Amino acid sequence: NIEWIYGDAELGAQLPDKIDYIIHAAGIASPEHYQANPLETINVAVNATKSLLEKAKETNARFLYFSSSEIYGDPHPSQIPTLEEYRGNVSCRGPRSCYDESKRLGETICWIYETYFDVHASVVRPFNIYGPGMMPKDYRVMPNFANSWLMGVPLKLYGGGNQTRTFCYIVDAIDAFIKILVECKVPGVYNVGNPTPEISIIDLADLIKLKIDPSIEVQQIEYPKTYPKDDPNRRCPNINKLIEDLNYHPQIELSEGLIRFFRWAKLNYPLIPNSY
Ligand code: UDP
Repeated sequence: NIEWIYGDAELGAQLPDKIDYIIHAAGIASPEHYQANPLETINVAVNATKSLLEKAKETNARFLYFSSSEIYGDPHPSQIPTLEEYRGNVSCRGPRSCYDESKRLGETICWIYETYFDVHASVVRPFNIYGPGMMPKDYRVMPNFANSWLMGVPLKLYGGGNQTRTFCYIVDAIDAFIKILVECKVPGVYNVGNPTPEISIIDLADLIKLKIDPSIEVQQIEYPKTYPKDDPNRRCPNINKLIEDLNYHPQIELSEGLIRFFRWAKLNYPLIPNSY
């Protein structure tokens, strides 16, 4: 019973008059893509959010906004794992600002609609979610590594490769998103991710080698020009709020997620050399 309506998220008015839930997941989350499209990135995080919140206000729908772990910027080491209360260390003038600052403003707009207009607007801050469905030219680390493996070229580590991330498999993330949307009694702000392991990109490449193909080679390169500077050194969520409020626990370990994602990529990615 699914009906697809294709349209511009900014034009909330094209949606039906009776709506139970609005999930605003539109956005430009890949650093390569948002650096190439800064104004579009701001538009979808800010203007589309306001339009869709208007629709939620009119229809009394519950609302879920996809913010980002990038709203914390490059957190001070004492703030890792990062709690929802942390206010961030973000530049308002830099190659990542269009994404980070617009997601922050998107959250403020949610807060305004919640506080002034009583809209049930919750916010999620995803931490490096990956899995089937990522475009081959998304240019984030997982699709890039899968493409390199399929092309038989080395996985490229930007900078030293010592920067860390945590990776959350898509199925676990969707479980959290739906719980937050449907089960939260009061609107909330939640980190969504899998806090273990916090892994350096170099160790991620080694794990892929171990689990997917021992013949994979790894190469350290300078940051490509197309990749925005201010790459956060460490990123890792504290998800205690999600555990305590919604009894949420991620299920898919990184090794298992990598096996699933690389198997899917092999079946679905065309063999096109990456430009990076
Ligand atoms: N990265 C890398 N090689 C790639 C793509 C990304 O070493 O082919 C690094 C990048 O410098 C960053 C991390 O992997 O430290 C995650 O980058 P991604 O673009 O996936 O997302 P981000 O966490 O920066 O939003």
